[in-house]
Amino acid sequence: MERILSIETTKYIGKEVKIAGWVNSRRDHGKIIFIDLRDSSGLVQMIFGQEFEKDKTAQEMRPEWIIEVEGLVNKRPKGMVNPKLTTGNIEIKVKKLKVLSKAKTLPFSIENDGYEINEEKRLKYRYLDLRRNRLRKNLKTRQKVIQFMRDALEKQGFIEIETPLLTKSTPEGARDFLVPARLQPGKFYALPQSPQQYKQLLMVAGIEKYFQIARCLRDEDPRADRQAEHTQLDIEMAFINQEEILDLIEKLYISIIKKIFPEKRITKIPFFRLTYKKAMEKYKTDRPDLRRNKKNPDELAFAFVTDFPMFEWHPEDKTWGAEHHPFTKPQTEDIKKIKKNPEKILAFQYDFVLNGQEIGGGSIRTTNLDVLTAVFEVLGHKKSEIKKKFKNYFEAFSYGVPPHGGIAPGIDRFLAVVLNEPNIREVIAFPKTGDNRDLMMDIPSDVSEEQLKELHIKTKKK
Ligand code: ASP
Repeated sequence: MERILSIETTKYIGKEVKIAGWVNSRRDHGKIIFIDLRDSSGLVQMIFGQEFEKDKTAQEMRPEWIIEVEGLVNKRPKGMVNPKLTTGNIEIKVKKLKVLSKAKTLPFSIENDGYEINEEKRLKYRYLDLRRNRLRKNLKTRQKVIQFMRDALEKQGFIEIETPLLTKSTPEGARDFLVPARLQPGKFYALPQSPQQYKQLLMVAGIEKYFQIARCLRDEDPRADRQAEHTQLDIEMAFINQEEILDLIEKLYISIIKKIFPEKRITKIPFFRLTYKKAMEKYKTDRPDLRRNKKNPDELAFAFVTDFPMFEWHPEDKTWGAEHHPFTKPQTEDIKKIKKNPEKILAFQYDFVLNGQEIGGGSIRTTNLDVLTAVFEVLGHKKSEIKKKFKNYFEAFSYGVPPHGGIAPGIDRFLAVVLNEPNIREVIAFPKTGDNRDLMMDIPSDVSEEQLKELHIKTKKK
């Protein structure tokens, strides 16, 4: 007999089936044992009758053991139907039982939502924590959202393209994770803070409409709602303007909500639009929470904040940084102005905001190499070095570059908001702690002397 899923059992009333999964709960009623079996599709109730009274395995069987059973699917008597279970109108009279794996008592309960359990413990035993219904649902919803994005973009002519993980340091504003290059002693790869350079080079390559469900890695200082790696829907398009990009995102997110979260209400369609200046004046933040009723868990206030300043002043070291990244197009091509009054220059840059959280950002990119040089000069690079440092850009663009721009909405934060989760760790299968440790894998960890030697690395012992 072939195994079927618990959810399929209702189609087999009066027939024998084979199912397998985890013992979810056990209730002993005198000579009869009721067991709810759990598999990836849900729960089904099984009955072990008197014939199992002397069966040692059946008597010993405990929650979270993994078993395989064969049995007869019976309609439940009226009054015994459980409307809360998809399989609540049937039960399985067990004929054969086989234990596939025994289990120790779990370090915590997986019955409820689990918010009350110490999070470090949940992260240490994440593979058990993920047996929890809430997290399983979150992962399923995450997949649905990503699949929806893929389908919607493919229909509009986008191509999903993977870009390298071993790459070059990109000036995106965070610290890079570095990977030593064994074959080039003393040289390093950087893990991508985002596929920014690659996606722009794909525009030079004539792809025109690119997207990727991309992992971005940033070695940032601990912050409650940050992860060293996050996932974004990375988009880049050629021959496009800001309006068209925002319009695409607006339509995409409205359809995601309608299809996957029909219980949600969007505060305003079209989404709120405000300039950075207006947002700062009126709300004192560039990511205002524009919900009408902040106590309503099903309200979603999407907003686009536009016209950000091109540069931000870093008083600590008296330097200018790029508000978004250096490849963003300033709203003027007047190089003298850019160099003389950086504080006055606005950029074609926009943020995507949801309920007071930044869930994405993007920009139209500079394709004029003189302007790009001026921007890098403001950022403190020497004119003579710029072409060398960003050689891949300057060279590629010199072969012809279409006007282009893009955006990258984050997937983790969006999901945390729509699922009413308190933080992004609840929507990521294997998240790290605030200080970038993975408690389950126990990393970062030591490596062998041999490995270090091969990599030409010496570490200072603490
Ligand atoms: N690369 C940018 C980011 O990760 C997004 C973009 O400009 O498209 O924030």
